[in-house]
Amino acid sequence: MVSRVIPVDDFDLVIFGGTGDLARRKILPGLYRRCLSGQVPDDARIIGAARSDMDTEGYRQMIREAIAEFGGPEAADGKAIDRFLTRLHYVTVDARGDGGWKELHDLLRKDVINAFYFSVGPGLFGDLAERLLRFEIADTNARIVVEKPFGRDLESARALNATLAQHFNEDQIYRIDHYLGKETVQNLMAVRFGNVLFEPLWNNHYVDHIQITVAETVGVEGRGAYYDKSGAMRDMVQNHLMQLLCLIAMEPPSMFDADAVRDEKLKVIRALQPVDYHHIVRGQYDKTRTSADYRTDAEDPRSHTESFVALKAHINNWRWAGVPFYMRTGKKLKARSSEIAVVFKDLGHSIFPGDEARHRNILSIQLQPNEGIKLQVTIKEPGPGGMRLVDVPLDMTFAEALGPDAEGVPDAYERLIMDVIRGNQTLFMRGDEVEAAWAWTDPIIEGWKARNDVPKLYDQGSSGPEDALMLLHRDGRKWREIKE
Ligand code: NAD
Repeated sequence: MVSRVIPVDDFDLVIFGGTGDLARRKILPGLYRRCLSGQVPDDARIIGAARSDMDTEGYRQMIREAIAEFGGPEAADGKAIDRFLTRLHYVTVDARGDGGWKELHDLLRKDVINAFYFSVGPGLFGDLAERLLRFEIADTNARIVVEKPFGRDLESARALNATLAQHFNEDQIYRIDHYLGKETVQNLMAVRFGNVLFEPLWNNHYVDHIQITVAETVGVEGRGAYYDKSGAMRDMVQNHLMQLLCLIAMEPPSMFDADAVRDEKLKVIRALQPVDYHHIVRGQYDKTRTSADYRTDAEDPRSHTESFVALKAHINNWRWAGVPFYMRTGKKLKARSSEIAVVFKDLGHSIFPGDEARHRNILSIQLQPNEGIKLQVTIKEPGPGGMRLVDVPLDMTFAEALGPDAEGVPDAYERLIMDVIRGNQTLFMRGDEVEAAWAWTDPIIEGWKARNDVPKLYDQGSSGPEDALMLLHRDGRKWREIKE
């Protein structure tokens, strides 16, 4: 199959925080790969803007090193990197000062798309937005990209939305959740809404339950002080896991269009039942002989912040009444794996004598480390020996059939940045969605605080605390194994 890269229009993209970790690890290597694919016009430019005192040459050198480190196999192409670096410029700006802004104004071309990536802490969003307008840098066509965390509760998210709304319209604001940029997330929508097979089964008549797991093997990795103010609920559940839940559970939108999709996602969040305290398990990873516990990593020996959370949620609507959605996420678990599993109900009656096994259809959507969709189906074990049944995974990504194209698949950041340039907000969170998600998670977090809840310790390299296993066990169910 021939790769079909559709070029985007010409643009100037300013990355505030262009010298930061995210810019060096994800944004710039991603842009480099998009340039290499031929998707970016020759004249398009990328302007790093940050507090560090540096010139364009120094910035190009910094990004050369970043691409060598984080650019993947494509980073071996020295000539391509040289060409890419000529697109880069750098301006020293202080989000809270006035220096550098006039220079940025003069550098930008007005006749191309202007996008501004706020890859800085949310405390600077207001300062950046205000200066972009005061210095007449951004107009009503400009696009603003903002990173997580989008607030730490409903109140702060509302304040952030209000700050941005003072300066920009909602259709200019792109709130990134990189989970939505994954190829498989879009494939999930294609599978659900592009086939007649699944939609009739996608409800409480046929689905027993749904599991969403985002497991990491890393700990807080030097970000302890930051993470400890956040925890798994704020850092992962409120955004990534809830976004995945929305895509799985939403009604079919009338068309694949930004507001139609986001309207349906919002309805799911609003239909979520408040979670019963007994249906949540919090955990913290314990120490091992060679590695520190969460509290040491978090630099707070009395921390009650969770590095793991598992919960059972219910959606109050006709489609999902009675179907549990089990979600869990945690650090220092046994494998790095993100998966959504739709577990269908048992057959009411088996016609195969002697077959006592419990055969279930399971649609498993794997997001990382390897992306793919597999449908577990029951078939006859081939060969002689009578009618023996066996469960096999049907690979629905058709990697072999679609072959070489898979290599050109952009990663989540690359895809989302190109969507910003295209002006397509479908895979970005709308302000009301983010607020609704906080409105659901806030009472959970407040409940923990009010009860002075202490997280359960769990072994590093395990599947989380024992209580998390019990959460499903009590319902006669079992978590899927966490494996790569
Ligand atoms: P970082 O601390 O590595 O970099 C911060 C950048 O902001 C630097 O370029 C710095 O010069 C710039 N900066 C700081 N204060 C400034 C000011 N007053 N004026 C102008 N520039 C200023 O941070 P990071 O890890 O790159 O994260 C950036 C944002 O992205 C944060 O909001 C973070 O929560 C979010 N984020 C980061 C990651 C990640 O993997 N690093 C992942 C998801 C979200």
